[in-house]
Amino acid sequence: MMTKVKALLVEDIDAVRVTPGAYEFTVRHGEEDPCGMIFNCPCGCGREGYLPFKPEPSPSWLWDGNREAPTLRPSVLQIGGCRWHGFLTAGEWRSC
Ligand SMILES: [Zn+2]
Repeated sequence: MMTKVKALLVEDIDAVRVTPGAYEFTVRHGEEDPCGMIFNCPCGCGREGYLPFKPEPSPSWLWDGNREAPTLRPSVLQIGGCRWHGFLTAGEWRSC
């Protein structure tokens, strides 16, 4: 069954561990553009994941540059644990 969870941009992911789908951008010291994002698993299992953005080494994701309602490609798969698999599209996590 497909589920949708809103992706919520937060300043400090560690402060909202219980919020499924929340995410925080990671920025390298001295840079402005994010190099990836940390997110709480949309399924609510409490697991945290990291998605590096291209051109970071593979596996990495193409981010559309939208901070409030991001889209990433390809899909996201939690390896191990809950094995959540889905897409982040326009600020919404959609399982598949
Ligand atoms: Zn999960």
